[in-house]
Amino acid sequence: MGLEPLRVLGRAAPHPDRSTISTRTIRGYRGSGGLQLRVLLVEDEVGIGEGVRLALMNDGHAVDLVGNGLEALRWAESYPYELAILDVVLPGLDGFGVCDHLRSSGFQSPILILTALDGVDDRVAGLDRGADDYLAKPFAMAELRARVRALGRRVGPDRAALIRVADLELDPATLGTTRAGRAIKLTAREFALLELLARHPGQLFNQDRLLDALWSADFVAESNIVEVYIHSLRRKLDERGRESLIETVRGYGYRVRADVGAGG
Ligand code: CA
Repeated sequence: MGLEPLRVLGRAAPHPDRSTISTRTIRGYRGSGGLQLRVLLVEDEVGIGEGVRLALMNDGHAVDLVGNGLEALRWAESYPYELAILDVVLPGLDGFGVCDHLRSSGFQSPILILTALDGVDDRVAGLDRGADDYLAKPFAMAELRARVRALGRRVGPDRAALIRVADLELDPATLGTTRAGRAIKLTAREFALLELLARHPGQLFNQDRLLDALWSADFVAESNIVEVYIHSLRRKLDERGRESLIETVRGYGYRVRADVGAGG
């Protein structure tokens, strides 16, 4: 594409053009249960874009909002998105063009096309170009959220299954968490972090990898956000005086230990 890569130093990814819709940090995920996704949202109408972003973030998803089709391709090259939501009429490159480029560059996550065009031809055009779903504007936010949930289930059907590591049990469908039978209340974001680690017991995750998977790009400046969440998880999960379920490997990152249990 001849586009400059976003990634300059480590994970540093300055927003390439602040004239488009910028991302903004929103704290306090409420999470409504279900699967959390890293979402690329491409929408140039600020009101709609911000509305969708807030609704999805409230469901626990990490959402990057971009207002230009060409920029969307750069973001997609830089972060492992699990879902792309594309408006059709966009500056730079239209949503069908973005869809084409994403698919031809190997983007395998679901794509939802969001547009005012409601003709059958447009719908067919979107699906022909590799989109998975189509929602006509104006739409009810509840319907968009339901579509996102449905597409999220498609991302990984196995993600809906129970996860067990040592004496920890996670239910992604309800965010239910127990350790040695004791129920633990986690926020959607804490759950998403623990879920990622617990799906790969013993495997090391460095901070960049965790950030890329679970946080939208606006968290770049908060370099200790992962540390903060790990600390919070340990406080909730571990009993005083016992080894932590989450191990810190100095200078590298974190992993969930499969060999830490109630008995040992
Ligand atoms: Ca538009």
